Amino acid sequence: MARDATTAVTNTPAVLILLGPPGSGKGTQARMLEDAFGLVQLSTGDLLRAAVAAGTEAGRAAKAVMEAGDLVSDDIVIAILRDRLREPDVAKGVILDGFPRTTVQAEALDGLLAENGQRINAAVSLEVDDAAMVTRISGRYTCSGCGEGWHDTFKTPKAEGVCDKCGGTDFIRRADDNAETVGSRLEAYHAQTAPLIAYYQDRGVLQSVDAMGAIDSIAGNLAAVVREATD
Ligand code: AMP
Repeated sequence: MARDATTAVTNTPAVLILLGPPGSGKGTQARMLEDAFGLVQLSTGDLLRAAVAAGTEAGRAAKAVMEAGDLVSDDIVIAILRDRLREPDVAKGVILDGFPRTTVQAEALDGLLAENGQRINAAVSLEVDDAAMVTRISGRYTCSGCGEGWHDTFKTPKAEGVCDKCGGTDFIRRADDNAETVGSRLEAYHAQTAPLIAYYQDRGVLQSVDAMGAIDSIAGNLAAVVREATD
């Protein structure tokens, strides 16, 4: 039976990884895949921001590093992800958004999945031009009620100041979404995360999607890749 991006359902727990620089749309696309495929988005950035807000030991260690646009230590991030992977909802299958970001993290993920008899269905590289990322990042904001992401230019709510998804009127902009920090975040991506493209290519799970077009058309292309990888 033909399925489209909005009705597709997977029966086996899938593990998908979204790779791409800051601003490439990992979070936006991960949330659309959650809705379309019934998977759970795991964003280490979100988990770290929650730890910072809660003032946990990990959060206190991560705060200044995140504000500088550098990568938080592998030990902290791997521990946070390991704990999250133990929660029951991940049995539905996961979309990893922002993890792994280093080879050490990728190897740790392989180990965690092997313990559970799981494997990576696909690591999808979102292909973008760096030059466009600063504009994308500096215009974005999030509904504090439901977490939906919005953008001053590329994704505006139907009614100004009201979230389409939950009706919320309170929005937040990330502290690290500013032009100075974006440069460091892009550098960290190219130096430490981009090598994972070859890592997953070598393991036969790499897929690429052009992520420079309209959000819905990227979502359609990504859904096709995910459907193929999870069937
Ligand atoms: P993100 O929300 O994915 O853009 O992440 C925001 C920030 O959190 C990054 O700039 C890093 O400082 C930190 N971070 C998120 N995920 C990781 C990770 N897997 N490894 C190291 N640092 C991370």
